[in-house]
Amino acid sequence: MCEDAIRSICRSCHGGCGVLLRRDDADERVWVQGDPSNPNNHGFLCAKGRAASALARHPDRLTRPLRRIGPRGEGFFEEIEWDQALSIVTERIRDDVATAGPRSVVLAQGTDRNYQEWVFRFANSLGTPNVMGPADICFYPRVMAGILTMGGFTFVDYEGKPEVVLLWGSNKPMTNSDGVIGIRLLDAIAGGTQLVVVDPVETSVARRARVHLQLRPGTDAALGLGLIHQVFELGLIDADFIANHTTDAELLREHTRGWTLDRTADVCGLEAEDIFEAVRLYGGAASAGIEMGTGAQQSRDSFSSARLLVMLSGLCGNIDVPGGDVLWDPPGIVGRRTMPGSQLLPGGAEKDRLVGSHQILGMSGWAHSSTVFEAILSGKPYTPRSLLVFGSNLLVSYANSMQVERALRKVGFVMVADMFLTPTAYYADVVLPVPSWVERDQIVEHANYVAARNAVLSPMGESRSDEEIITELAMRLGLKGFWESPSQSLDARLAPVGRNWMRLQRDQYWANSLRYCKYETEGFPTHDGRFHFAPSILKKWGFPSLPEFSDPGSFNPSAPLILTSRHSPFYFNSEFRNVEALRDKQPYPIVEVSRQVAADRGLASGEWAVIERNGEVAFFKVRVSDRIRSDTVCASASWWYPEMGTPESWQLSNINALTDDCWSSPEMGSANLRGCRCDVRTLTPSERERIRAAFEATPPNVGDDDRRARIRTRRRVVPP
Ligand code: SF4
Repeated sequence: MCEDAIRSICRSCHGGCGVLLRRDDADERVWVQGDPSNPNNHGFLCAKGRAASALARHPDRLTRPLRRIGPRGEGFFEEIEWDQALSIVTERIRDDVATAGPRSVVLAQGTDRNYQEWVFRFANSLGTPNVMGPADICFYPRVMAGILTMGGFTFVDYEGKPEVVLLWGSNKPMTNSDGVIGIRLLDAIAGGTQLVVVDPVETSVARRARVHLQLRPGTDAALGLGLIHQVFELGLIDADFIANHTTDAELLREHTRGWTLDRTADVCGLEAEDIFEAVRLYGGAASAGIEMGTGAQQSRDSFSSARLLVMLSGLCGNIDVPGGDVLWDPPGIVGRRTMPGSQLLPGGAEKDRLVGSHQILGMSGWAHSSTVFEAILSGKPYTPRSLLVFGSNLLVSYANSMQVERALRKVGFVMVADMFLTPTAYYADVVLPVPSWVERDQIVEHANYVAARNAVLSPMGESRSDEEIITELAMRLGLKGFWESPSQSLDARLAPVGRNWMRLQRDQYWANSLRYCKYETEGFPTHDGRFHFAPSILKKWGFPSLPEFSDPGSFNPSAPLILTSRHSPFYFNSEFRNVEALRDKQPYPIVEVSRQVAADRGLASGEWAVIERNGEVAFFKVRVSDRIRSDTVCASASWWYPEMGTPESWQLSNINALTDDCWSSPEMGSANLRGCRCDVRTLTPSERERIRAAFEATPPNVGDDDRRARIRTRRRVVPP
């Protein structure tokens, strides 16, 4: 027997597909189906969404709080009561605050699952300016580019039927990022929208593009400068918008003058006529939107690239117009804008934020992960003493994994809240179990809409939501600004718009009506109401006021290939490697190479290969492909092996074992993950032995050949 369907919102990724959920009477299973009435996905559901049931009742889910009883990283834990676990964490925070001040407590989180505001609220109320996350390699170069240029950031207006979409460094129909489901892009293409794709790989969506600019990884800013120069040259600018609403357009024209078609083509590894055609198409469209993905934001030029795309949109008159890039106009709930409670942070505390010299990231409120790890290791500028991690597998998610590991080993205290015992959780003093998305009520807020995520299963075991954990810790610490319970907060957060949780549950989805050209009546939300091509604050912080391309320098014969990485449609960042239905679709990490690279190095599809960089190695299965440039290799990102209980689980195929933070974005601190130099080769006998040993060291009945049915997080938990 199943209950009637309950409408909800999928959160197996950062998207937001509407779903219909049915629960069996035993509270053991949930059936998931796309909601045809949801305007975001029209019934579409990807493999990750369909796997929600497997995730919700996965046999390796954590069900009780754990306390570490062995050395860090070795994974020996005992089960403890919630009260005891929360007391340990509370006492530790109290002690750190008393001894070294609130700034010594650092909070960390992974990709947002609608509790980011809670993490920030807790940090602000506690008085620490240090919340770290993947902001600098994810959404925030875009956010800060928009905010500094025009006081906000934008989303493509698919309702307005864009004539052209410029899809840059994003495989949206596969990754469905940022609350914008790729199905909307595909619908737009089916309805006649022309596509320009910028991607080093010929993805399936690139094959549908009028123009595919298969650029050399890491040259996004050069291409942006070249496109803007051509827009000026061809007179494709919106002269009225520039004259009436912007500043410093002439400076930008001068700045880009040297970026001729030939120079841009040479630097980016493209054909000049393709660049010209892309400009003609984008700049000549009556309306056009820009979708920018992480591909252009995980490099030294992340901020410059993002700014150039904002500028391109502005120059061509596409900001806040139907079918263009509309400024975020959030519903007025206590949500993304106000929930973090920045007013709760004591005055002056933000100057202690661990951002190093990356002040634009600091302005966004985030600490810089590498700066945090360096501070733990060096004690400079001060020593973080505790790390409270909500849903982040730090060891595979950040550049320079070995530095992350050293920091996890050294920091005084680590708390991890997660569904599974990840490699990062192995380093925790206390591990707290949290529920999956079908087991929690949440307000989902994206772009101009809010929606109700309805719990349909009870939380597995004793798991408690991140919001519950934060509330409980806040109560115990006597922090201000919290509700008695997360469920009480739902009504309170919706009250400013005259709604409550019950009504949102009934309506399920509610969107602000779109308002176009807000700047014409209200001005842009900048100090003078204008759109700034060269914001003065950049100069004040010592950054170039106009975006520049960072030349990676001369060719290095020992590292002749350019390394980039990509996410799989079956996983979300580091998640789901232990969900069988998904792992079966991609059992191993992949490095995609061209036929030329394969022939030169004796690589064959399906065989293991080594990616080598600066003496570090990581192992991937080869896919020989016609889709990739012959100077580039593209590897699976954020891989780990839940079936291994050894450090090899996160070291063997972790692309971040090869990356570092040495050549990061000055403004944002984004590590250069897309465009560093490497080489690929076949395995030596000892490396072949290493792989064999790593898989053999997995628990009984889980092996390389026969692991399909039994992927398990290896747990060594001593019963109480
Ligand atoms: S795209 Fe994301 S939100 Fe949509 S079904 Fe897949 S995992 Fe769920």
